[in-house]
Amino acid sequence: MSSLLIFCRDCGKQGPSGQTRDGLCLDCQVRRSVAELREEHARLWRKRERYRSQLANVEQIGRQIARVEDRMAHRIKELVSNEREAVDYLRRELEAARGQRYTIKGV
Ligand SMILES: [Zn+2]
Repeated sequence: MSSLLIFCRDCGKQGPSGQTRDGLCLDCQVRRSVAELREEHARLWRKRERYRSQLANVEQIGRQIARVEDRMAHRIKELVSNEREAVDYLRRELEAARGQRYTIKGV
């Protein structure tokens, strides 16, 4: 494989051409492919926090969150063949999803 480096058209980072697709680096491909699931995850996460503060049963929401996480993992694995890297990506996306509840206001 050639060691050609390509600038990502989204984040501008330089990455190996072998990992670049549609002009996007692997990071951006992963970010885009799980974007809507990450929103869903953030929404459920906030819902659970709200229910928990009302001492409601949050078991079902917990299962929904787990399902969204499974789907995110699945999408990431489709893009990232290296298993260890895929786990890293998933962890990063989940941390980002959970952190979103601090930045989104009035929802
Ligand atoms: Zn990028």
